[in-house]
Amino acid sequence: MHTLDSSMKVKDVMLTSSKAWDIVKINGIFDGSTVRHIINTPLLASVRNDKLVWKLEHDGNYSVRSAYKYCINNTNSNNISGIAGNWNLIWQAKTPPKVKNLLWRIGRNVLPTRARLNSRGVQCPLHCDVCNDSEENSAHVLFLCPRSIDCWQRVNLWDQISAGLNINNNISDNLFSILQRLDKEEQELFGVMVWSIWKRRNNQVWDNITDSNRTQLRRHVGNPQSVPQQVNWEKPSHGRYKCNIDASFSPMSNKVCIGMCIRDTNGCFVAARTEWMEPILDVDIGEAMGLLRALNWMNEIQLTNVDLEMDCKRVVDNLYSSRTYRSDLGDILSDCRTILTTSLVNSHVKFIRRQANEAAHRLARVATSLASFRNFIDLPTCITDVILNEMR
Ligand SMILES: [Zn+2]
Repeated sequence: MHTLDSSMKVKDVMLTSSKAWDIVKINGIFDGSTVRHIINTPLLASVRNDKLVWKLEHDGNYSVRSAYKYCINNTNSNNISGIAGNWNLIWQAKTPPKVKNLLWRIGRNVLPTRARLNSRGVQCPLHCDVCNDSEENSAHVLFLCPRSIDCWQRVNLWDQISAGLNINNNISDNLFSILQRLDKEEQELFGVMVWSIWKRRNNQVWDNITDSNRTQLRRHVGNPQSVPQQVNWEKPSHGRYKCNIDASFSPMSNKVCIGMCIRDTNGCFVAARTEWMEPILDVDIGEAMGLLRALNWMNEIQLTNVDLEMDCKRVVDNLYSSRTYRSDLGDILSDCRTILTTSLVNSHVKFIRRQANEAAHRLARVATSLASFRNFIDLPTCITDVILNEMR
């Protein structure tokens, strides 16, 4: 039987033989909920020293700005007039003021859609003027109207939007849930597209002008801040290999799963690997762990001239930044740098759009259902179509 005494330290509930929690001991001391909190605290091999980390900044350093923001956000959520949500996602996006203003109105649910006008006693038709089919509310106009879906698919944002959308939630929750899923550039593209879709709706309702999807897309392309990016996978240059890496997060199984896929100059499949780890980690830390595992794998199989690609911009930027990170992310990236500057000097890491990282993405998803780590020498069926398609 173990008991808690005031002189105990965290290391007293860790195993002495390996870096892991002493689950038997922890179960003997704490109640169920505390046990879960403890064993869901990751013990990462890269983190070797104890230090104070400020959780509200990515680099782990204290800043007045983040503390102020925390206070403001927490006061607001208790206030009936304030709507909870990460409003900074709107204010900090690099979009024109008219786009910010529109997003703000959506977040406050004050967009004058027909459903909203009717609820306020305005006599007007209720149906959507674009598809003539459903009730025109914010979620329908912006996301669920077939014409809007088509636009989102064309700019490759539909997957993330449909994943973030829950029709049982209000438009404000949906907006923030979608924004949260997007990286910075995608948030900007998202904002401009929302603006463009709303403009099309107004042209239709007020001037009876039907914009084609092409006009609609051109409107956003015409905006210099939202030039679409290269989204295709590209073969590595002559004599080099490319390894795509992605992490997938499974709250259900409390795991982070990693998918890695190596291809040669011709785009031919060379090898793939899947791994997973418990407990689930923050997104950036999970993605960084994916990179570290991939670098270790390159080392193991002695592949030295590799272009590594991943779709987590923050990890790639921080890897090559001189800023010091106190957080766990900093420790993992420091291990990555060590490998890159000692055994893999001919390799480098690049950010690519999610759409060009499909092979690794699918492997990471498959890893969720695999009991052990897996090496693939033959082309796995789950990515056959992606590989063949990208060889062209
Ligand atoms: Zn419609």
